[in-house]
Amino acid sequence: MKSAARVQFWGTRGSLAKPGRATVRYGGNTTCVQITSPGGALVIVDCGTGAHDLGQALLAQAKGPMRGSILISHTHWDHIQGFPFFAPLFVPGGQWDIYGPGRLGQSIRETLAAQMQYSYFPLALDEMGATIRFHDLVEGTLEIDDIRITARYLNHPLVTLGYRFDMAGTSVVHACDHEPFSYDPAAQDALSERDREHAGFLKNADLVIHDAQYTDAEYSAKKGWGHSPLGYVSAICRAADVKRVAFTHHDPLRTDDQLDRIVESVRADLLARKSDMHVFAAADQQIVELHASAGAPLPDAGAATSATAPAMKESTVVMGISETMLAVALAEATRAEGVRMSHASDADSLLKLSRSTPPALVLIEDPLSGTDGLGLCKTLRTEGDAALNGTPVIIVSGRERADEGRAAGVTGWLIRPFTTQYARAYIQSWILRTACRWARAATPPDETTRLATLHALGLLDTPTEERFDRITRLAAALADVPIAYISLVDENRQWFKSCRGIATSETSRDAAFCAHVIFLREPLIIPDTLLDDRFAHNPFVTGEPGIRFYAGFPLFAENGSCLGTLCMVDTRPRQFAEPMIQMFADLASLVQKELNSGPARPTGLPTPAE
Ligand SMILES: [Zn+2]
Ligand SMILES: [Zn+2]
Repeated sequence: MKSAARVQFWGTRGSLAKPGRATVRYGGNTTCVQITSPGGALVIVDCGTGAHDLGQALLAQAKGPMRGSILISHTHWDHIQGFPFFAPLFVPGGQWDIYGPGRLGQSIRETLAAQMQYSYFPLALDEMGATIRFHDLVEGTLEIDDIRITARYLNHPLVTLGYRFDMAGTSVVHACDHEPFSYDPAAQDALSERDREHAGFLKNADLVIHDAQYTDAEYSAKKGWGHSPLGYVSAICRAADVKRVAFTHHDPLRTDDQLDRIVESVRADLLARKSDMHVFAAADQQIVELHASAGAPLPDAGAATSATAPAMKESTVVMGISETMLAVALAEATRAEGVRMSHASDADSLLKLSRSTPPALVLIEDPLSGTDGLGLCKTLRTEGDAALNGTPVIIVSGRERADEGRAAGVTGWLIRPFTTQYARAYIQSWILRTACRWARAATPPDETTRLATLHALGLLDTPTEERFDRITRLAAALADVPIAYISLVDENRQWFKSCRGIATSETSRDAAFCAHVIFLREPLIIPDTLLDDRFAHNPFVTGEPGIRFYAGFPLFAENGSCLGTLCMVDTRPRQFAEPMIQMFADLASLVQKELNSGPARPTGLPTPAE
């Protein structure tokens, strides 16, 4: 049977590299996992010290400069220390995309560059030879070649992403570092609401690579350290109907023999529970081949959202906290670049502040000066204000009341006691979630051909021409919009061959609405950008020109490549009736005809009347 995907572990130790006689069999390198998709895409999760061996192995097989992606779960040392030692990054001509969780005020690039400062490392990030692109991630989905990746925040004292890889009927999840939201070894199967959500992320996976640093007995003294006990990993994976589980992030104090015994005991427990789930302790350099599982239902992935985080606008956090020490602790945890805090110590001022702000996040102590926190949340939800209905409300409390909370519209719980680091990671992940309601368009599969076709037309950076300008003029008049343009989508920018109503000749591709049309290859009509998660926080919506309505029609080359768009933009919400859509599609085909006839005719010749 042909393998659908291949996983190879290069580092399985947690916290600290631990070479030595007691770790010969499982290995001493810190986290690094290589995933190869059925289509040959190379994705690396984390760059602990195992990345050194992986880099050498890749170079030994490479026939030329390499292309690949590195996904960083978080930037604790044991997940990034191998990054400066990953040799393929030094090969000129190599193309690497690095993804990792952006934090408020610090990008993944800045964090990785910081560990390569002069005091720590002889070479700077900019001196690596390959082309390296950095992408800040938030929760959401992204596609890398034939892999659909879902990123999801884990429970760890630093903003940390777990990654799920769905490819050709098989799925792998990397959930490291993570600790239970709540866990009672005596009642393993009684999972809390948030742990059930975590199980949903692992649902039906063929292989889950999970943090399993502690035994249940050890965990009681390690709560808050951000790592999972084995009983929890087993329970959560059983609840998720996972087929195979690789325990990883082995404690630096754990010997090979102890790991053997741990795996045996979990297997004996599974046998007693009549579970056929397979578990093993991951070992450095171990390979797992995955075959497409017939008919295993994938979890509901929901609509594709972009996991790529844009530059963020300012966010406000409203805190309804009456207890002084708690208010101080939460203010400390919330403090970050671009975050404003508004504090209320009673119910009335909390409601007033929330209505006037509008906040990115509301934290409510339960009870707040004698008022039930859930009741306050319910009041906010029934305001009828659309902005407040969508705002996450987190209840800060000593215990979770999941069912009542759901009924009151509570988004999440911050359970006391907590450390500042935990609260910071938790609050930041909520702000990041709400601050990023916009999506960068995916790159079309025929990108190389598409770009070659576009460049061969010879139209980029040429002067304006009446044959195009008259069409944008017509489009703006017929649609009754202030802005209309013909956009050609180049590698990193969209360039306007003709434009009415905006003063610029190009913008970055990242924020371009037209880049979505290029990927979709069909007309895209957005009646109100503020109601669309792909565009609500796009910089062209929140800033100039304040796009509220967009209609874009694709322009194709003769070989089928989608090169650009004819589009119309308004600063108020609009609807386009079906006959209008047909009319603009016809106008777009006129533009298309002009495009395909190549660059401007020599001056001096009259423009043929058509
Ligand atoms: Zn770690
Ligand atoms: Zn960590």
